[in-house]
Amino acid sequence: MKKTLLISAASLFTLGFSAPLLADAHVEQSADTSLDEVANAALENDAYAWEFVEGVTTEVGPRQAGTEAEARGRAWAVQWLTDHGFDNVADEPFEMTTWVPGDIARARVTAPFAQDMVILPLGNSVATPIGGMEAEVVFFRTVDELRAAPDGSLDGKIAYISHQMRRSMDGSHYGFAGPARWVASGIASSKGAVATVIKSVGTDHHRNPHVGGTGWPEGVTPTPAGALSLPDAENLERMFERADGRAITMRIELNPESIGTTMSGNVVGEIVGRNPSLPPVLLACHLDSWWNAPGAFDDGAGCGIAAAAALNVQKTGQPLRTIRVLFAGAEEVGLFGSTAYSAAHIDEPIGVGLESDFGADRVWRFESNFRETNPDLHARLAGAIAQFGVANSTIRASGGADLNILRDQGGAIIDLQQDGTRYFDLHHTPDDTLDKIDPVQLRQNVAVWTMVAGILANESGSIQTGGPIPSAPATAGE
Ligand code: ZN
Ligand code: ZN
Repeated sequence: MKKTLLISAASLFTLGFSAPLLADAHVEQSADTSLDEVANAALENDAYAWEFVEGVTTEVGPRQAGTEAEARGRAWAVQWLTDHGFDNVADEPFEMTTWVPGDIARARVTAPFAQDMVILPLGNSVATPIGGMEAEVVFFRTVDELRAAPDGSLDGKIAYISHQMRRSMDGSHYGFAGPARWVASGIASSKGAVATVIKSVGTDHHRNPHVGGTGWPEGVTPTPAGALSLPDAENLERMFERADGRAITMRIELNPESIGTTMSGNVVGEIVGRNPSLPPVLLACHLDSWWNAPGAFDDGAGCGIAAAAALNVQKTGQPLRTIRVLFAGAEEVGLFGSTAYSAAHIDEPIGVGLESDFGADRVWRFESNFRETNPDLHARLAGAIAQFGVANSTIRASGGADLNILRDQGGAIIDLQQDGTRYFDLHHTPDDTLDKIDPVQLRQNVAVWTMVAGILANESGSIQTGGPIPSAPATAGE
């Protein structure tokens, strides 16, 4: 222990640091021992993350962006952070254009095999006429097939896009399957379709549509867009196989609407560090959810993990740097909170950012964007969390949705990749409830985050490069 300290002090001298920094080095060294103890204690008995996600899912429930429900979620989170001793707790407001799903969502195949199907509107969908609309359905296996359809070929038709999603541990297939939801309705509308229906972007077989946002390019008229549950979508595809050339017709009725400008907000809180001039460590998540679920996996757990890590680090003594939690608002509907946070704070450099927004299953891989510029810190972080079953990686971290400010500042980013094998069973469905969280895996997340946040919060040099912090940082990060 003492030997390690001497080596570390010597290396600081060779780097040209001045004597006062040695005091920090000493605290850092002695803190590491208790940090390991605190992280391991969290692995056995986390006091915070579960309490947060249980509380917000029970007392608030679904938190659709821009609505009164999201505002209640923010008020709840402000109270929770205050009760747990965070400093500088605030709800930083911003305006947004708000969409609400309505209360009518019906789909029925009317011929040749008449039966009801389970549908929900996609975010930003416009309403059908009251009483619904009926049209022939045109089948597209993939988004590329839809793209290849001639202009005008969908006049008066409903486009159906299958574009099956596959399960993957890193969630990478979302990148393939997502466009069915993100862009298919825009493409179909541009080719004359009166509405678009997709197979849910998901990997489960419950009779629950997976919702999420869609959109239309400039100049393309928005049309009604909905997602069928996977069993219903598969039933529809079997109908195409058995139709023998007969047209398949569907009636859909949806009544979502845009309600204009309302307020959302970003909730923040801090564990204030000993040296406020050092750029803070930002631990991010998002607090809003879609209307159809209480958002336990997406992303109540993420906020619980971030807050728990900050509180655990504080148990080892006041950190050198400030740790700030950012519970972003209105992520689901277009990253409005992340954008607003970056715009408001772009001139305040952040030392490093991490986000938790991929459920509550275990962290399995560590990535940073400073492995080459600060290999010592990268290696120390990777080494410290190897005990929790986290693999090191050469993949360059790019950060989650709520880390716009780090990307805008060109700052240091860490990705603690979670096992997403079952994430898309639950994602944006009514099944995203508290009981789906495995407390053992949630605690592993807290242990890993505690260790990483604790090491970062006690780094005296630039996290990005390992060198000294620039004395007067302008708009760029470290
Ligand atoms: Zn999310
Ligand atoms: Zn989401």
